[in-house]
Amino acid sequence: MTNTDIEPEAVYNPSTAASLALYKSAHSASIKDISSYWSELAKSKLHWFAPFPTAVTGSFQEGSVSWFAGGKLNVCYNAVDRYCLPPFNRGNEVAIIWEGDEPDAIKRISYHELQLSVCRIANALKASGVQKGDVVTLYMPMVPELAMTMLACARIGAVHSVIFAGFSADAIADRIDDAKSKWVVTASVGSRGGRNLPLKTICDAAIKKERCVGVVQKVFVFDGNGPNGSEWDKEDIHVRFSDLVHAQWPVCSCEWMDAEDPLFILYTSGSTGRPKGLVHTSGGYSLYAMHTTANSFGLSQQTGPSSPNDPHKDVYACVADAGWITGHSYIVYGPLLNGISTFMFESTPMYPDHGRYWDMVQRHKITVFYTAPTAIRSLMRFGDDAPNKYDLSSLKVLGTVGEPINPAAWKWYFDVIGKGKCAVVDTYWQTETGGHVITNLPGVTPMKPGSCTLPCYGIEVVVLDPASGQEIDTTAAEGVLAIKQPWPGMARTCLGDHQRYLNVYMKPYPGYYFAGDGCRRDEDGFIWITGRVDDVLNVSGHRIGTAEVESALVAHPAVAQAAVVGIPHEIKGQGICCFTTLTEGVPESEDLIKELRNQVRTSIGPFATPDMIVLTAALPMTRSGKIMRRILRKVAAGELDTLGDTTTLSDPSVVDILISKVENLR
Ligand code: ATP
Ligand code: MG
Repeated sequence: MTNTDIEPEAVYNPSTAASLALYKSAHSASIKDISSYWSELAKSKLHWFAPFPTAVTGSFQEGSVSWFAGGKLNVCYNAVDRYCLPPFNRGNEVAIIWEGDEPDAIKRISYHELQLSVCRIANALKASGVQKGDVVTLYMPMVPELAMTMLACARIGAVHSVIFAGFSADAIADRIDDAKSKWVVTASVGSRGGRNLPLKTICDAAIKKERCVGVVQKVFVFDGNGPNGSEWDKEDIHVRFSDLVHAQWPVCSCEWMDAEDPLFILYTSGSTGRPKGLVHTSGGYSLYAMHTTANSFGLSQQTGPSSPNDPHKDVYACVADAGWITGHSYIVYGPLLNGISTFMFESTPMYPDHGRYWDMVQRHKITVFYTAPTAIRSLMRFGDDAPNKYDLSSLKVLGTVGEPINPAAWKWYFDVIGKGKCAVVDTYWQTETGGHVITNLPGVTPMKPGSCTLPCYGIEVVVLDPASGQEIDTTAAEGVLAIKQPWPGMARTCLGDHQRYLNVYMKPYPGYYFAGDGCRRDEDGFIWITGRVDDVLNVSGHRIGTAEVESALVAHPAVAQAAVVGIPHEIKGQGICCFTTLTEGVPESEDLIKELRNQVRTSIGPFATPDMIVLTAALPMTRSGKIMRRILRKVAAGELDTLGDTTTLSDPSVVDILISKVENLR
């Protein structure tokens, strides 16, 4: 939702002309010879049991890229064990700071404690029959045991497939079936926003579905005596995991994994269709997560114990959920591989009230804070009182991820949260890319609100003409975003469907990785994401980006969020349907609808006049906080029998409300 509401091209942090020049030369050097760039880093940043003979082989076109193949390493060893040993000696440093649903539930886990717990879990899994290469499905709350189990899988060479703990039984069953996952780890209950989630009960419903019967051999349940009273099955498919883990020896050797062995599978959120199980590797992915964590947030690998009361000590907090790639790369693997302490947050920004994030910043003296535009926009609706109540002076870097951030929200984040002195890093990336591919670097490259700015080191971004597939070589350009050379963090395949991987990413523009997003590159070479390429409407022959219309809408002070979709239109081919939520306290009215229609007409042109504007209290959001446009399209078009799976929504009841609103407007 890039919008043009306020000085869209304003440059912040203009004092970095010299560092910008340094970035430019370092960036061109990195893409001139990707093989030596990444191979130097891999050797210096990771511990290898056996060296890799070559850095990179294969091509996009063949879908055969591999990094560091033949090299042997273990990701858990790199993220945990080595930091307990010389020369790092960080065993007593905090690895995980966990804050539970209730603000006073706090745990601090040292690297040494993490190592012991991970080894016990790893031994418990092995004792139950889990083997190297097996897929282990994790359906867990945001508790330290989730990160520990991910690391335990990495330790024994099992492949984890984390499913966000909000998905329905059907969604879990689909993913278990797709991955033929014999093992499931869950917890009896989770808590979020003061409510209990009966995770074991939902898991039980999933494994009873026909497609999972005979696939799943064991379900490991943490906190087996949990308060939800769910029955233990007679057929002993369930294992009381807390008890089993507790009884294990806290020493477990690390499997030697090939760099190309899969580390995990992760299903994408599904805002654009059937979820794809993307496969990420042990060597390339971990290097990439580690490297981008340090660069994008202005952090560095911790190479020794911290000195007591260090005033510059960083407290890094990514408040995403570990069930998404953001959590994999920037809560678990990226920070721990750097020896940095990471923050795990179980609750929501609204619990017990909408000051929760800022309260945490004050209490933990958080220096780096990473969240999504949707969270920023929803908190901005409540005004400045909550953030102004807390001491936010520890903050240095603010990050955003997941969708374009509209400049008004960017400004609020920058001014009200960062007090005008923090860098705001707008990180563009995808589940498929493994880590950030475009972002500004704090204190190094300038910021422009709404632009994700410049490519990361080692990433060669190009803008292609969508029709010819040719690279547009003028600096100012508009087209589709693509990447020209392989990078270590890229997903290698879609599990069980390599053809789909080729079709979606590699075939559309042969020789390039196609991201599926449209973009504009400005005269300074800064990238502005304009939305997914399939989000372009054709209204009476005019091509209109849904993001452009959304921008025009959110520029109106009464609008909090907007989502625009096409509807079939007899005359125009496609018409424009806008779903908008309003700023706190603004009442719905016919006059407002007229005003919004005018707003779009004046800011884009009469050809973009919306055909339908639906004011609503809520939009259908994926669990990761993105608007599910696929569902809006169906609702707008009245195609209610093909709505598809709505259980992946954070609140499926929104759909019925929208259906009746749209019916009333027809
Ligand atoms: P699915 O692929 O199943 O539809 P998804 O694309 O929402 O799900 P992710 O991989 O989490 O799943 O999201 C990547 C997409 O999010 C990008 O392709 C882009 O459209 C958008 N995105 C992420 N970060 C940014 C950003 N900083 N600026 C603009 N867009 C972003
Ligand atoms: Mg995607």
